[in-house]
Amino acid sequence: EMEGILRRQDARESSARTYARHLRIVPVRASGMTVEGADGRTYLDCLSGAGTLALGHNHPVAVEAMRKVIDSGRPMHTLDIATPEKDAFTEALFATLPPALARTARIQFCSPAGTDAVEAALKLARSATGRQGLAAFTGAYHGMTTGALAVSGGVAAKARVGGFAGDVTRLPYPYPYRCPLGLGGDLGACAAAEYARRLLADPNGGVVPPAAMILEPVQGEGGVVPAPADWLRAMREITRQHGIPLIADEVQTGMGRTGTLWASEHAGVVPDVLVASKAIGGGLPLAVVVYRGDLDVWEPGAHAGTFRGTTLAMATGAATLGYITENRLAERAASLGTRMLARLEELRARYAHIGDVRGRGLMLGVELVDPEGEPDILGSLPADPALARAVRAACLDRGLIVELGGRHDTVVRLLPPLIISDDEAETVLERFTDALEASTR
Ligand code: PMP
Repeated sequence: EMEGILRRQDARESSARTYARHLRIVPVRASGMTVEGADGRTYLDCLSGAGTLALGHNHPVAVEAMRKVIDSGRPMHTLDIATPEKDAFTEALFATLPPALARTARIQFCSPAGTDAVEAALKLARSATGRQGLAAFTGAYHGMTTGALAVSGGVAAKARVGGFAGDVTRLPYPYPYRCPLGLGGDLGACAAAEYARRLLADPNGGVVPPAAMILEPVQGEGGVVPAPADWLRAMREITRQHGIPLIADEVQTGMGRTGTLWASEHAGVVPDVLVASKAIGGGLPLAVVVYRGDLDVWEPGAHAGTFRGTTLAMATGAATLGYITENRLAERAASLGTRMLARLEELRARYAHIGDVRGRGLMLGVELVDPEGEPDILGSLPADPALARAVRAACLDRGLIVELGGRHDTVVRLLPPLIISDDEAETVLERFTDALEASTR
């Protein structure tokens, strides 16, 4: 049965499919962070629906919220008409916002994908400022629609730069291991901030003031690169100085994943516009943009979209958010993430094939390199895509689902659900170590 399903989907699905190519499994049951395949094998899931499943698969709280909606005969879909579920979701979400944003915040429900909420944010900033250009970062990933691609920054096959670039000023993201400015450690981050400061301040620099700056507080698809707090604060200061709305894309980092409910909180930064999706729907599609009230210049219908009122996602999202805050899962992500990162650091010391390990909370990345290769000016080794693919496959063989990310698809990403237990974390690390050992022997 399983072989037949895989064969038919290989034959019929587009060449653009990605995960299905190397995760040769047919999941038929799942609970928590465990997924069972049609062949009876079980896997620990460190992909979590690309970060959507904060509570793992089929968490009773999420399932109960869905069942309640279904059993109550609520309308399933209501465009942007008011519903009790939308009200409850909005209240729960606003309670998580930094007070300085919550005071005046407005929310726009979007077609339920991160990329549409990014489009909404970019459009809003353009309308509010009357300007067109955008400031964005190397290695960024914001989605697959044309505006989102324009501000993305060359992440392996996912977002090749150029196609739709338009008027985008691309600034260096602080990525110490492969600093685009060729400077090591903190110096690279300082230089990246200074570069942005000078470029955006200089009227002769050839940069027309942009309509917005968009950034990820921790780059996800770009290879799990946490921005230093000082750099984030510098971006906040520069944008405030020049009246440029700051858009924080927290599609992947939001809802506690990085150890605080929103990753901007680490730096005490309050964005003007917050983009959220993935985990906010509790596993179901939902995407929103939340922004300072004075930016709300939109005409009615300025950002429409059919699926903006999906009752199930609102209810599941509200329940999930409630569970995360009540059970302090962000704090849990912070403490467990710190311990897992330390363990990965130990691995780095043992394996020359690990160039760097990074992470914040339960968003962790291991960058694989070729130890025989020529080091660059920073002493960093060349990316090893073949090794990364081998490790991913070896993980799957050992019952561990991981994905790759990064500029060269050589960063193994661990995105476990926030409900991962200490024992499960231990097993994840054991299986990953085994896979690494087998692939580098
Ligand atoms: N922004 C970020 C930071 C993301 O990680 C992603 C998805 N990986 C997106 C936007 C796009 O979201 P979606 O795939 O739901 O369109």
